[in-house]
Amino acid sequence: MPELATEKSSLYDLTPPELESFFLSIGEPKYRSSQVLDFLYRVPVDSIEKFTTLPLSLRGKLAKVFTLAPIALRATLEAKDGAVKHVYELTTKAPDAALESVWMPSEPADLASSDKPTQPRYSLCVSTQLGCAEGCKFCATASLGLRRQLTTGQIIYQIVHCRTLYGNYPDTVLFMGMGEPMQNFQAVCAAVEILTHKDALGFSPTRIVISTAGELDKLEEFHTRFPKVRIAISLNAATDELRSTLMPINKRFNLKAIASFVRSMRLEKRQKITFEYVVLGGVNDTPEQIRALVNFLKPFSRRIKVNLIPFNPSVGINFQTPSKENVLKIQETLRNIGVMTFIRRPRGASASAACGQLAGKFWTSPNF
Ligand code: SAH
Repeated sequence: MPELATEKSSLYDLTPPELESFFLSIGEPKYRSSQVLDFLYRVPVDSIEKFTTLPLSLRGKLAKVFTLAPIALRATLEAKDGAVKHVYELTTKAPDAALESVWMPSEPADLASSDKPTQPRYSLCVSTQLGCAEGCKFCATASLGLRRQLTTGQIIYQIVHCRTLYGNYPDTVLFMGMGEPMQNFQAVCAAVEILTHKDALGFSPTRIVISTAGELDKLEEFHTRFPKVRIAISLNAATDELRSTLMPINKRFNLKAIASFVRSMRLEKRQKITFEYVVLGGVNDTPEQIRALVNFLKPFSRRIKVNLIPFNPSVGINFQTPSKENVLKIQETLRNIGVMTFIRRPRGASASAACGQLAGKFWTSPNF
């Protein structure tokens, strides 16, 4: 197993322009950067010694300053539906909680509206923080609190590692794992820059989804910087009273703020904002809440789509999975007002890998 040297930074922390500046700063030509990017992303190698197009002395110099993998795989758990949870350790020194990503067959809710796949597609759900500070009442990650911000390299390596594990990169990257991406803004922006840079991972921005509990000021900045990256906002309730009970963030950014954000956003042709709605049995699937949801969405029904996520249970979280009928009823009601609405299957549930179940409990309960 690779040892992780915590004091060195990883080459995966650097964006392509940063890598170029680094080489210039040590008196090397610019093209060293493209040579290194090939070994980082085109066919990832596991040690700097294998950067065979670089002179040996330069490889030695690089290895003194940088490492490659900033996280180490400790377990994979395959769920019955084909989703695979990857459990990573951040450092050798502080095994306080594990970091998780989930590889899963894509479904319509993950794909851009224009996408009509003819062969199986895969999505990777990545984490941006170890734990989370948002405190959403239905989410297992919240119970950890915020343990650590992830570095750019720790975010990017979750994606790079798929090339080694599966021979391919995922088709879509969902920033929907542990943590609140907008609360680790710089690292997430740098990760998106690396993901979309043609000399690095070269992803089309429409194959990236950022999910936020509703950190609207940061989201606005993010959208200005990456206008084509898809945005998902976790709505989860359409009355301020209920949303504030479920998600403390509603006291800072309430429904009115979300509505005006959605209305003012500049959207590309066919681009829509996704609202995620975790359906909590008996809580936000009541006739009264559905009515509130319809009233809330109606004014901008064409700008959005809705993903209904039936609640995934975790130990210690006191909510109920909704009935299938209620979820279907919400879908039908929203479709009737012209809102594109999908039901997300709980992929990975048998390995505790579904939405809201990522609690990094590897160290305390290896059996999940
Ligand atoms: N912090 C970000 C991303 C992580 S949560 C956000 O809030 O969007 C990703 C999605 O999982 C969110 O839509 C969240 O509402 C949903 N979720 C959280 N706990 C869940 C649970 N127990 N069951 C189903 N979905 C859940």
